[in-house]
Amino acid sequence: MSKRVVVIALGGNAILPSHGTGTYERQLHNVDATARQIADLVKHHYKVVITHGNGPQVGNLLVQQEHAQCLLPGQPLDNCDAMTQGQIGYMLQNRLAYHFPRMCGREIPVCTVLTQVEVDPHSACFTRPTKPVGTFHTQAEAEELHRQHGYNMKLVKPQAGKGWRRVVASPRPLRIIEEASILQLLDNHIVVIACGGGGIPVVRADDGMLRGVEAVIDKDWTAALLAERVDADYLLILTDVEKVALHWGTPRERTLDRLTVAQAKRYCRQGHFPEGSMGPKVQAAARFVESSGQQAIITSLRTARAALAGKTGTWIGP
Ligand code: ADP
Ligand code: MG
Repeated sequence: MSKRVVVIALGGNAILPSHGTGTYERQLHNVDATARQIADLVKHHYKVVITHGNGPQVGNLLVQQEHAQCLLPGQPLDNCDAMTQGQIGYMLQNRLAYHFPRMCGREIPVCTVLTQVEVDPHSACFTRPTKPVGTFHTQAEAEELHRQHGYNMKLVKPQAGKGWRRVVASPRPLRIIEEASILQLLDNHIVVIACGGGGIPVVRADDGMLRGVEAVIDKDWTAALLAERVDADYLLILTDVEKVALHWGTPRERTLDRLTVAQAKRYCRQGHFPEGSMGPKVQAAARFVESSGQQAIITSLRTARAALAGKTGTWIGP
């Protein structure tokens, strides 16, 4: 029996909760728990391809760039995207290499592919930023950051006291530049970590040269594209909620077990899933289902295997 291929999309929150402090130890601790769950899937005969977000990390790295300007030149956002791919890839490789032999009874090679992703230079997103990065702030802090640094700030969690985050441009992914390398590694039974942070966004100039742009692609969209390109059986989006809800955060909240593509699209239009958080997950899941005829699941890291076994999560199907 051939193994079922699962593209696992890890939320930035699965590694560094945006309310967390962001110490190296804390992140490694969270990555360790994540790697254990992934090893458990491999043990149960799933062939996995891993991708991850970088919202909390890249936002923090931007702050470090800006505050060190007096000493060294700050690096642009595309370079920060590349740095976080390396950072998170390193931690995942390190912890997977520990858990694979213990849980699967053998060493399994793991490789992070630093991935560029082509985007449309004319995307409207460049004038309307939507993607939250970094930590949460109060309204007063948000106003101060906007005044001092010109950051675009947005209220992303209305229920919370600290509900504001910086937002940056987030174009849709068009093409994975390193696709051939990713496919070759998979063919050679190497566990691949790719398209981290949604990929490093690049645009193609008239002379064919690729140039990085200052944006963060939502990893959910790139995960859907990656799942399509590797012919995945499942797109498994792991975040910090077990199921998607309608009327989320209100007294009328109702969690969903199953969604058809048509329902998913209708609920998106009705505004149940905010931009920059649940919106791209549901939309990207629907896109993968539509283009591949396979299924997508949105659930929490903790419930990943139970969800693949059909016991929980929100399933999006044709
Ligand atoms: P990730 O880092 O996993 O991409 P996000 O913060 O981008 O996480 O998106 C997941 C979050 O979206 C959940 O933690 C939840 O707070 C929020 N959310 C927004 N709308 C919904 C909804 N309709 N159902 C469930 N969660 C929702
Ligand atoms: Mg997200």
